[in-house]
Amino acid sequence: MDQLVCVCGEVGEFQQRRISFGNRTLFLCRSCGTAQLYPYPNADVGIYDRSEYHCKISKEEYLGYFLVYKEILQRFSLYEPSKRILDFGAGHCCYHEFLLKDGFTDVHSYEINPHLVEEARARIPSDNVHSRLEDLKGEFDIIIANHVLEHIPDLKAPLRRILTEWLRPGGVLILALPNFDSWSRHVLYKRWLGWSPQEHIWFFTPTSLRRLLESLDGAKVLTVVAEASVNKPYNGFFPNTLFKKIYFHTLMRFFEAIGKGDQIVSIVQKARNLT
Ligand SMILES: [Zn+2]
Repeated sequence: MDQLVCVCGEVGEFQQRRISFGNRTLFLCRSCGTAQLYPYPNADVGIYDRSEYHCKISKEEYLGYFLVYKEILQRFSLYEPSKRILDFGAGHCCYHEFLLKDGFTDVHSYEINPHLVEEARARIPSDNVHSRLEDLKGEFDIIIANHVLEHIPDLKAPLRRILTEWLRPGGVLILALPNFDSWSRHVLYKRWLGWSPQEHIWFFTPTSLRRLLESLDGAKVLTVVAEASVNKPYNGFFPNTLFKKIYFHTLMRFFEAIGKGDQIVSIVQKARNLT
């Protein structure tokens, strides 16, 4: 894509911000409030094929992220092991293992990084680790997209496919993204983790995310919350430097408590009459 376009369709009204990473600059859409780093990273040069991808995330940290989804799904009585479930952009496919452990039997993972797929297939007793979209057969009751959509230039395309092709009528997508409304973004400025400027394109606030999701045909937004594992008993994030430890136990916990934390989670339900 070589023209600045917002996910809402806006082409003209952007506010250029001073913050930039290399040649990538932040632009805020005046129409919907979604920000983007432009130009986009070139996925063709192998940013998602690297063998070291994600290796810094521990299993405890994955479990912390996972339990946030589990807790939010449980609030809507949607976490049931009889359901057919897909982790879309599964990384190390750790969620696959957590779901099997919880008694889910029809669990699928989709991941594009060949190293992670190979590693997961060796570890998980299942043929259900997919590396090609055409292998996603049948419909799912639940699809998880854990910090995936902010990486995709045309992110409405996978959202539409999820709603029309991969979700069963009445099925749900649960997704998480960095929260552009996070107060840590202001405090940490360029050190904010949510930027991930090698990869991330889109930055939503809870309001701009809701607006995008509500614009999709047949999508019912069940919830949009700023929520992460930060203040939960199962938090799996253990900061490794003194600065990060102090930050985590003071400001980060406080921002999380007042709804200004680093992550947005949303559940979107496919309309029962959408085919
Ligand atoms: Zn916009």
